Amino acid sequence: MAQVDAKIETMYQEVLKRNPGETEFHQAVLEVLECLGPVVAKHPEYLERRIIERICEPERQIIFRVPWQDDKGKVNINRGFRVEFSSALGPYKGGLRFHPSVYLGIVKFLGFEQIFKNSLTGLPIGGGKGGSDFDPKGKSDDEVMRFCQSFMTELYRHLGEHTDVPAGDIGVGGREIGYMFGQYKRITNRYEPGVLTGKGLTWGGSLVRTEATGYGATFFVNEMLKARKDSFEGKTCTVSGSGNVAIYTIEKIHQLGGKCVACSDSNGVIYDEKGLDLDLIKRLKEVERRRIEDYIKTHKHAKYVAKGNIWEIPCQVAMPSATQNEINGKDAATLVKNGCIAVGEGANMPTTPEGVKVFLEAKIAYGPGKAANAGGVATSALEMQQNAGRDSWTFEYTERKLEDIMINIHNNCFETAEEYGASGNYVLGANICGFIKVANAMVAHGLI
Ligand code: GLU
Repeated sequence: MAQVDAKIETMYQEVLKRNPGETEFHQAVLEVLECLGPVVAKHPEYLERRIIERICEPERQIIFRVPWQDDKGKVNINRGFRVEFSSALGPYKGGLRFHPSVYLGIVKFLGFEQIFKNSLTGLPIGGGKGGSDFDPKGKSDDEVMRFCQSFMTELYRHLGEHTDVPAGDIGVGGREIGYMFGQYKRITNRYEPGVLTGKGLTWGGSLVRTEATGYGATFFVNEMLKARKDSFEGKTCTVSGSGNVAIYTIEKIHQLGGKCVACSDSNGVIYDEKGLDLDLIKRLKEVERRRIEDYIKTHKHAKYVAKGNIWEIPCQVAMPSATQNEINGKDAATLVKNGCIAVGEGANMPTTPEGVKVFLEAKIAYGPGKAANAGGVATSALEMQQNAGRDSWTFEYTERKLEDIMINIHNNCFETAEEYGASGNYVLGANICGFIKVANAMVAHGLI
């Protein structure tokens, strides 16, 4: 083993050297590589064919200028990205993130995780991710439209239902997908629904896609609880964020009998002891695009803490659904100390390596993002299936498929962890199970 571990360490050092400054990418790579020692010991062909080194190098990276004019007529310039990471299992698939923090390191961490997440879904999708440092916050609809049109004017040439199929992520929802789809259709003169997912229901979208990431993450936690002969019934929960993932996580928690008492946005935290009023949150965030602070305007009994830390609120189930590295080692220790027994990650890589260590050592049920939040992209793949068959499925049928997929992911991760002697360790289970399928496809495809 020592020899194998030394080889993997050398590969990691090479990733650091080849990708300077991309700290989130380094973090995502290390988390996977740390789990692969026993896998390559069993499969020397992966070492011979340098599968790990190849997986760590994106197949293609596109970086482009996105010029657009704001409402005052001023010219703005943003940077656009699409990292086409792996097409071993299918066309590149993954969302677009519009947020001022976006740079190559963020897009690569997301794209790298997406490879294994998409593999875990069991559906034929490769891994990719993209986005821009454009900040949609405070922009008018017209400004967002002009930005999306300019972004797609470059990106369209790289896309296709069999090539690369983007979707949403932070800052990209139905509105942005609509503007991008419109521009794609105009430039190519093709009505090609399979080229983007997360579309509106009247023009090729799938029922349940909006709810899918949050619902899926909650189904995953439900399975982890079941494996411990427990359930959501009567559990106090906290969900960070108040975007699409958080909203539908809260909805499903409530449907399964849990009580969600807190959510947040980048300005602060809402605590409502009676259980969050989800209709109000939906109106504030989905319709009016306001801040979560406005919750207390109508709900005087609730508390708003500006710059508060949601992880200090005692809960039994925590579902980080905002962004990367939102739970550090100290937050994780606070959660465990306050009686948290399960964590399900709706966001991508929301827990720092120190935090992950705390959860694993405490042996709580910890579902890492690439397994727990795979329901979003899985339902994107269901949207692609419906588009390919010129079909549309009912809500109930689609939700049942999503639940089955999440149960399967849970069971595969659980069983893989058992097989590798790390019972209950979903991090190891997810990384190994996701990796092996991609690695086998790469061996079969030869040196490409
Ligand atoms: N952005 C989502 C994720 O992190 C969804 C991607 C998709 O639907 O393609 O998995």
